[in-house]
Amino acid sequence: MSAPASGPVAARHVVITAGPTREHVDPVRFLSNESSGRMGFAIARAAARRGDRVTLIAGPVHQETPAGVDRVDVVSARDMLAAVRSAFRDADVLIMAAAVGDWRPARKLAGKWRKKDDGSDTASLELVKNPDILATVARDKGHRLAIGFALETGDGLRRARAKMKRKGVDYVVLNDASALNSEQATVTILGRDGSERRIDARSKDEIAEVLVGLELPTPSQ
Ligand code: C5P
Repeated sequence: MSAPASGPVAARHVVITAGPTREHVDPVRFLSNESSGRMGFAIARAAARRGDRVTLIAGPVHQETPAGVDRVDVVSARDMLAAVRSAFRDADVLIMAAAVGDWRPARKLAGKWRKKDDGSDTASLELVKNPDILATVARDKGHRLAIGFALETGDGLRRARAKMKRKGVDYVVLNDASALNSEQATVTILGRDGSERRIDARSKDEIAEVLVGLELPTPSQ
């Protein structure tokens, strides 16, 4: 088969994150969330289908690695930050679909956390903030494309726009809690250029196709 007249499109390197992170309290307990990883894995499949080179950085999920995709498994937010930093060095696009835990225990106990025999019915856990992976990596992204997600309730549009600015990304994909652990989602893709595109009740595969087709928005005036 001959190449199209314009020649083959150079493959992009796309870094995608998926799933939850886990923050261990002790060797057998952790803080985490309900993310299934479906959206991120759907994006990885869609990117591989269009011929991109794909690095998929996944938290603990039960998902099959898409064909042709390089998968890096991580557990905590700090592991994910290190993996994203390293993969994004020579990448063109970052899509952060992972549900990164905002907090981690200040200390991880070496042994199992035991109920103390001191008669107390309460216990407390000191938490410290995790790094914001997207904001950290987007800071030095230059003209490379960075896409984040936002799960919001209430005045989602306003919050998602503020998030896009704060994190320095090109697009934010706004969805509501119904997307969690579900096959379908309704999303609004907000662009740095002021654009707004709503996609109603579509499969995550269909939404993924749209996301991998996004290009750098032209700066708003
Ligand atoms: O601030 P919030 O968690 O709502 O932002 C969601 C977006 O930021 C997602 O794209 C998520 O992957 C990313 N994120 C991150 N590091 C964090 C928290 C969220 O990269 N610590």
